[in-house]
Parts: sequence; C-alpha cells; structure tokens
Amino acid sequence: MKRRSLDTILAQAGHFVDGVTGAVTPPIHPSTTFARGDDYELIGDYIYSRYQNPTYDQVEHLVAELDGGAEASLFSSGMAAITAVFETVNIGQHIVAPTIMYHGAQDWLRRISEKNNIGLTLFDATDPNALRQAIKPGKTAIVWIETPVNPTWDIIDIADTAEAAHDAGAILGVDCTVSTPITTRALQLGADLVFHSATKYLNGHSDVTAGILVTRETDERWQEIKFIRKHVGGVLGAFEAWLLLRGMRTLSIRFERASSNALKIAQHFEGHSKIKTVLYPGLESHPGHVIARRQMTNGFGGMLSLCVKGGATEAKAVATKLKLFVSATSLGGVESLVEHRASVEGPLSQVQPNLLRLSVGIEDVDDLIADLEQAFEII
Ligand SMILES: *Cc1c(COP(=O)(O)O)cnc(C)c1O
Repeated sequence: MKRRSLDTILAQAGHFVDGVTGAVTPPIHPSTTFARGDDYELIGDYIYSRYQNPTYDQVEHLVAELDGGAEASLFSSGMAAITAVFETVNIGQHIVAPTIMYHGAQDWLRRISEKNNIGLTLFDATDPNALRQAIKPGKTAIVWIETPVNPTWDIIDIADTAEAAHDAGAILGVDCTVSTPITTRALQLGADLVFHSATKYLNGHSDVTAGILVTRETDERWQEIKFIRKHVGGVLGAFEAWLLLRGMRTLSIRFERASSNALKIAQHFEGHSKIKTVLYPGLESHPGHVIARRQMTNGFGGMLSLCVKGGATEAKAVATKLKLFVSATSLGGVESLVEHRASVEGPLSQVQPNLLRLSVGIEDVDDLIADLEQAFEII
C-alpha cells in the first residue's frame, strides 16, 4: 500500500479497535506508575509517567510521522520544549536567531546568553546576506528560525538556511508553529529539529498548552533533550495529551479552512481605504511570496496582519470595536482572534504600532469580513 496521506493519518490519529471492548478511540492512561512482573521485569515499556506515558507516545508517534522525523518528544508547553533545546548549548558556544521571532523564545535566548556566556547574534531575516554573516563557523551550535515570521509573516528559506548552518557545523531548528506539517515539512527541506507550539494549530481549540519537538536523527543532542525533559519534568498530564490527540484528528480540515478564510480576508483588504498594508504570504505583493509558493505546499495558513492607516491609537480602537474577533493573544484556534502585537510584546518590541495581528478561525468568511468592515469605520 502506498504511504497514507497526511489527511488520512490525521483523521485516524490513534485509531484502532480495542480487542477487548471494541472501542474506536484510544484510551487515556492517567497512571503515574507502571507495575513490574514476577521477576521484577517491566510488563510494558513504561516505568513512571515523568519519563514516558502511553498517551504521550500516541501523540509523539503521530507528529513524528507527520513531519517525517525519527522521533518526537512532547512537552508541557512550547516554551518547555524550546528551553530544553537551548539547554543543550555549552558555555562558549553561539546561537543565531532572527531579530523578529516569537518574543518569549527571544527573551529566553537573551537571558541564557547573558547568564551563561553563550554568544547570541540576531539577524535580519529579510536581508539575504545577513544569515551567513551572523553564523560563526565552528562556534555556532544552533541556528534557530521561525517561518512564517510572527507577526510580519516574512518567509525564511529553510533549505538555504539549512545549507548555511550545516556548512558551519551547526544544526538548524525550525519553529513551524504557524505553518504546521500540513503545509511545511521542514525536516525534508534540511532542518535537523522541528518545533511546534501544540497549543496553537495542532490542538486547535485553545484549551491545551503543549509543545513538541521532532528530530531527524536520534543523535547525542536528541538524547540530551530527552534527558532534560525527564529530569526537569516538563511533561503534560495524560488527559491534556489525549485532548491534543483528539484535536489533531481535525487538523487538516481546520488548517485548510483557516487558510482559505485568511486568503479571502487578505485579498479583500488589500488596497482598502483604511489599510496601509496587508501582510500575508499568500498575496503576490508579499515579499516572501515566491519562497512561500515553493515552501508552503498546501496553503499559506491562517495568520495575517493588517497595518491600518494611523498609529497605535487607531489600531487599538479597531481591535476594541471588533465583535466576532476576540481581542486576545495566541493563535491557531477554531475561533478568530485579533491582537495589537506591539502592546503585548512591550517596550522591546520591534513591531510597527499600526499592526493588528489576526488569527483567522474557521467561521464563515463573509461574517469575518463584515465584522472587520464595521470596525474600520471607527478610523
Ligand atoms: C506560542 C508560540 C510559542 C510558545 O509556545 P507555548 O505553547 O505558548 O509555550 C513559540 N513559538 C511560536 C511561533 C508561538 O506562536
């Protein structure tokens, strides 16, 4: 049989028919501990749930298959996973990351760089020469990127970045939270590690906090990441892991609808009298469009930004006047959200003050456009 498509893998996530009960959904394993047999041998593969649990295993196998990786490791949040990756960098080594990226991850990089004598160079992802200038051959351990870049949705070429990292003896980690394995398969493009904040699209219902890493190879760094998870204990509860598995069963149709809604909203508001620019990689006018067409093989995702004519005051007034879009941070849920990103990121933010970030959900797109139109009347 040919390899099943991602749609089939997702729809049947964790699917099996239980031989004893006939149940068609997987069980939850809340047990924290696992019994041994007569000779004190382990009965299954499990010892204690901080190490591993059958419900995490189900999620990890699924996401490893989606990304085409060797293994995956599930954490209690995206940041628990990201900090585990950077925990593997030694004193005196160096990290390269973009100037604009998930602010929590960048805050963490600044902290470890100051406290642990780890070099950090931030590069401008829109400048094609900046990456190679930022990398220090023999010293750079990890190049970390995010694509599309939040909240400008600039696209970074994963294959090019992987080549630059590998030439210098570094590995490439890619935060694919916004693109998901539905449209971008970073390991196939040369990345060594892929990260998803599963709090976002993978779970998709704004009710579980989780993060997951997928590796191309089960190398020494991967073993260290697993050691860190086991000893720091950043693991999910079994119920949350099960909810995440259930959420993922509808990932492909949720992502498809969010992408098509976002494209229609972007097209509708491009050139609108109240809008200065629409930032969406699916628009030909977007600087990352050509790479996006190559790298995002199945839709441009549900995230876009509208830069209004005016400044922070006008942008915040629009956000407050929206009725269907809820003013809240986060992304990737079935419901649409709006965020004035500069306010959320605080004083160090590099985000322009007139930018409103939309996480487009799966509602009727005409309702969403009408809501935005009525809110723009305020400016
Ligand atoms: C939310 C997010 C994270 C952090 O994940 P948490 O689950 O909130 O810890 C990292 N990267 C991106 C792009 C995100 O959107």
